Amino acid sequence: MDEDHAVRLAAFRYLDHLQLLHGDALPWSALIDGFEVNGQRVPLIGAAGIWKPRVLDIPISIATSPRNPYGDAFGEDDLLSYRYQSSAARAYDNEGLRRAMSESRPLIYFHGLDKGLYSASYPAVIVADDPATSTFTVACEGVGVLRPSLASGSIETVTRAYATRLAVQRLHQAAFRQRVLRAYQQRCAVCSIKHVQLLDAAHILPDLHELGQPVVPNGLSLCKIHHAAFDSNILGIRPNDLTLEIREDILHEVDGPMLKHGLQDHHGGQLSVPRAAHERPDKERLEMRYDEFRKAS
Ligand SMILES: [Zn+2]
Repeated sequence: MDEDHAVRLAAFRYLDHLQLLHGDALPWSALIDGFEVNGQRVPLIGAAGIWKPRVLDIPISIATSPRNPYGDAFGEDDLLSYRYQSSAARAYDNEGLRRAMSESRPLIYFHGLDKGLYSASYPAVIVADDPATSTFTVACEGVGVLRPSLASGSIETVTRAYATRLAVQRLHQAAFRQRVLRAYQQRCAVCSIKHVQLLDAAHILPDLHELGQPVVPNGLSLCKIHHAAFDSNILGIRPNDLTLEIREDILHEVDGPMLKHGLQDHHGGQLSVPRAAHERPDKERLEMRYDEFRKAS
């Protein structure tokens, strides 16, 4: 195994470790610190989109900015289109990616989720280079990267598209969670509990609905209990004044303190929403969702 490959595998192991600590949203500080190999630090991300640490001759990562998290184009085939570095001064970066492609070197794709937070997909492989449109095509994860050439057989193509689709879904879910939790200042909108490990970004309308997009106005930061209660129509939100309602049968049930304090006591309470109007739950979506709740009562 050559030195270049050993560094890449060590980088993937380091990212595995970071994901155990941080989940899908990796802090930029841990990526820029990187890990150590033979006494030398290997940062995993740089200031420009394409990054090559000093210990390697070929780039190790490509990144898209959190300012433009959906700007990287995943095509119909679920392959990522990654634009060339446009300035002449960074032309060697593009050259580096061409080498990564011709030598089948696996890369890391960092997708900016929010300020200072990135999701990582690896191994990612450059599968095409199109000078006419100044783009590289990248397949993320699950590709037979350790083979010297990428097979063009149909099974491989399907596997690749599927693996990339999963990677894309994970990226978008992680970005949605990050934005919603931040908008609600990392608190449950019902009970205000503040532990991120217990919080979810709930969809007001499910993602299969035509208005079910992963955008903050379709999101609510809810703890696990209130998320499940909302999804199962035990908890409803009145759209005009954001009053919380507990479903009639649950309201009159007699059980322990979790039922009383966790659910019944919130009946008639108020949903906490972000201060910024554009981050608050969208009224039309709440109305559609409330209809479902009423039907279940
Ligand atoms: Zn809660």
